[in-house]
Amino acid sequence: MNKWRRIEEELQSLQEQHLYREIRVIESSQHAHVRYRNRDMLMLASNSYLDFCDEERIKAYAAQVLTEYGTGSGGSRLTTGTTVCHIQLEEALARFKGRESAMVFNTGFAANGGVLPALCRGGDIIYSDELNHASIIDGCRQSRAETVIYRHNDMRDLERKIREHPGQPGLIVSDGVFSMDGDMVDLPGLVELADTYGLLSMIDEAHATGVVGNSGRGCEEYFHMEGRTDILMGTLSKAIGAEGGYVCGSRTLTEYLKNRARSYIFSTSLSPVTVAAAKRALELIEEEPWRVRRLQENIRWFCRELQKNGIDAHSETAIIPIRIGGEEKAVQVSEALLEQGFFIPAIRYPTVKKGEAMLRAALMATHTKEELTAAAAAIGRAVNCLT
Ligand code: PMP
Repeated sequence: MNKWRRIEEELQSLQEQHLYREIRVIESSQHAHVRYRNRDMLMLASNSYLDFCDEERIKAYAAQVLTEYGTGSGGSRLTTGTTVCHIQLEEALARFKGRESAMVFNTGFAANGGVLPALCRGGDIIYSDELNHASIIDGCRQSRAETVIYRHNDMRDLERKIREHPGQPGLIVSDGVFSMDGDMVDLPGLVELADTYGLLSMIDEAHATGVVGNSGRGCEEYFHMEGRTDILMGTLSKAIGAEGGYVCGSRTLTEYLKNRARSYIFSTSLSPVTVAAAKRALELIEEEPWRVRRLQENIRWFCRELQKNGIDAHSETAIIPIRIGGEEKAVQVSEALLEQGFFIPAIRYPTVKKGEAMLRAALMATHTKEELTAAAAAIGRAVNCLT
C-alpha cells in the first residue's frame, strides 16, 4: 500500500493545471536589481517597497545591535524574549501610527492569527472582505466566531449583512491595501458602519505602511482619518524591509492581547537584530520623506507607461496587477519577461481565483523612470504577443 499516493496524485494534478509552485532562488540581496539564474534582473515583484532590505544605515545599526545583543532572544515575549530593542520598536510604531500603544508579533501572519481569535469568540460575528489575506482568513477560522464574508469593498453588502445579525457583537476586518489587486479599502465607509453598529474595526496595513498617505503612515493618513480605526495591524516585512508583525491601538487593546493572543504568548520572539532594523527603518521613513514620494511618483509613472503600451493598469499603491487570465499564459508571459531580465512572477490559483491569473508588479522607491519605462514596454510586448 502506497501511503503517499493521494499526495503524489495531487502534486501531479497541480503540475497538469500549471498550478505547481516552484521556488525561485535569488542569489543576491533584495534590491531594485537582484541576481537570479546568474544574471542581473530588474526586480519588479518585491514587497521591499522602500528598498530597505539592504540599506547601509539600517545594516550599520543592526550590526551594532548584533554585537551587543547577539542573534536570538532565547524565549517568548513573556519570558526572556523582550529586550530593550523590542520595547523601543513598539514605542516607535505607536508614535508612527499615532496610537497609545503597539505590540510586535513574529510575523504579520502570526499577528492576524493571534488577534482575531483573541478578540472574537463564539457568539461573535467577524465580517471579512472576500479578498482579505490568507492570514485573516485563517485567523477567522481559528476564532470560534461566525465569519460572514462580504463582497469586495462593497459597503452596501456589508451593511446588509450586519443588519441580518442585529445586536450581535463583532468586528469588521479588511486589508487596507489588497495584497493582489493593490486597491484600497473604503475606510470612511467601513469605519462609519463599525461606529454605527457598535462593531470593532480592524485594518491590515501590510501593503499600506510606507506606501500610502503623504508621509507613508498608511490608510488613515491617506483618507485623513487619523485615529479612527480601532485596530491597526501590519507587517515589518514589506516596506519596512525587516520581519515581524504589529498591532497598534489603545493600551487596553495591547494589554488584552498580551494576555490572550496565543501566537504572541507561545512563540519565541524576534531576534533583537530584526526589531532593531525595523526601528531604524521607521526612523528613515521620517528622516527621508523623498522615499515615499519617489515610490508614489513611480506608481503614477509606471501605470501611465503600461497604459501607453496597451495595458489597462491603474493603482495608487505599489501593487499593480496585470491581468492575464489563463494560468499557462501567465506563466509563459512571466518566463518571457524573465528571459529579458524582468523578474515578475505569475500569480495563480489559489492566491487568486482560477482563470484569473495575473502578473503582480510591485514597485520600489529606487526604480528609475528609465527602468520602469523599459519594463512597461517589455510587459506590453509579452502580453500582446502571448495572449
Ligand atoms: N497581511 C497581508 C495583507 C499580507 O499581504 C501579508 C503577507 N503576504 C501578511 C498579512 C502576512 O505578513 P508576514 O509576511 O509578515 O507574515
